[in-house]
Amino acid sequence: MAIIGVLALQGSFNEHIAALRRLGVKGVEIRKPEQLQNVTSLIIPGGESTTMAKLAEYHNMFPALREFVEKGKPVWGTCAGLIFLADKAIGQKTGGQQLVGGLDCTIHRNFFGSQIQSFEAEVLAPELASKEGGPETFRGVFIRAPAILEVGPEVQVLADYPVPANSLSSFDSSVEDQKGNVEEQSKVIVAVRQGSILGTAFHPELTADTRWHSYFIKMANENGDEASSSLVPVEVDISYNKKQLSDLPVFQ
Ligand code: GLN
Repeated sequence: MAIIGVLALQGSFNEHIAALRRLGVKGVEIRKPEQLQNVTSLIIPGGESTTMAKLAEYHNMFPALREFVEKGKPVWGTCAGLIFLADKAIGQKTGGQQLVGGLDCTIHRNFFGSQIQSFEAEVLAPELASKEGGPETFRGVFIRAPAILEVGPEVQVLADYPVPANSLSSFDSSVEDQKGNVEEQSKVIVAVRQGSILGTAFHPELTADTRWHSYFIKMANENGDEASSSLVPVEVDISYNKKQLSDLPVFQ
């Protein structure tokens, strides 16, 4: 059975482990730097990035996490986990927080607003559908979600989401011209891949659609010799719409 580490300091690590289990993959909780030696790929879950960063600092996780990313081992950050992986974050609390970095992008920590502005939406992801099958869209669960405002040249955009242009004008001078027209649509980026790094602003682990987990497992299996030697090929079950799940409070 393939093994994927899941950073288990705070947030939805149990839900990720359950999603992996449904695909026949073992997720192991990572709480200490030395435990990262036992895994060749890692999920950093959603939660609350400031709290997670404080706990990571307390457990001296940052150097080991940075080394893990720098070595090109597959890492997937969801929501707060995506914030961790960003090279640059805006909208942080005073004094900011440490980031792991590695993903060439600028992220806005709470772009979509506060907890009560959380929402669900059908989001187009052609790359996911072409690799994993199923519908062109997935159910995006956005919980006090971040959004990516800018990406570097190496970053592949896997999904974006429409927003009114005026919601971006304070960050991006290029949409300043459109200020007069509040109807104008723009978009923010909500899923990216940069080599061995996957980032999603939403929470696939809270849905019954396991395609994002399956996509990441394939990244983990594809990764160079060192990493793949300890991962056995997994039988990926993409039957995300089967009503077979009893262990999760998921969107069906
Ligand atoms: N915006 C939140 C933060 O800053 C992340 C929310 C989430 O992970 N669901 O930590």
